[in-house]
Amino acid sequence: MAGGNGPLVQAIDPAALARAAEVLRAGGLVAVPTETVYGLAARADRADAGARIYRAKGRPDFNPLIVHVPDLAAAERLARFDERARALAAAFWPGPLTLVLPLREGAALAPAVTAGLDTVALRCPAHPAMRAVLDATGLPLAAPSANRSGAVSPTRAAHVAASLGERVDLILDGGACEAGLESTIVALRADGTWQVLRPGPLPESRISAILG
Ligand code: AMP
Ligand code: MG
Repeated sequence: MAGGNGPLVQAIDPAALARAAEVLRAGGLVAVPTETVYGLAARADRADAGARIYRAKGRPDFNPLIVHVPDLAAAERLARFDERARALAAAFWPGPLTLVLPLREGAALAPAVTAGLDTVALRCPAHPAMRAVLDATGLPLAAPSANRSGAVSPTRAAHVAASLGERVDLILDGGACEAGLESTIVALRADGTWQVLRPGPLPESRISAILG
């Protein structure tokens, strides 16, 4: 869509961030560096934008996406937080922790993003590029890793270009990602139990230190 309006890969500067926000508001796809890996971002409130992520990645539509938010307040508009969720967010956000929580009724999220589940995976990223893009759009952004489904997660802009090419409208080049490993995913269940769904940069011991 916006791919023809400028170079596919752009170094991060105010003009590139403005273009990223414009592409995202229009429902396009932008690859953005985070502290874990490069994410493939689209606005999370629109079905067509979410559908483009699944198509670009060749990802099965039953595999839900992680939604990125700028802060706890934005997260609480999308999911129901209990004391455990707030404690984890206070301890580890912004950072490489994704929380799977009950979806808030009436949340402005396209059902495709959560694959129709009644839970949502939320992360508040620390990387300045993803934070700047979230600020510039003012929208929650669905962002799985920016690679074709089943391929290795990208830690450099060149990896994204090699994997997705023209399937993405814009790639923001922020150099190499720090962690190089996808976020730790923790599900907090209504019955009081919790589970690490995916190990990652944040060790389980630090989560159990908070949750007991
Ligand atoms: P990625 O595509 O690499 O960003 O990985 C996202 C991961 O989050 C996948 O393993 C998804 O299955 C998982 N995920 C996203 N939403 C949920 C959810 N509501 N419940 C459980 N797992 C989820
Ligand atoms: Mg992935």
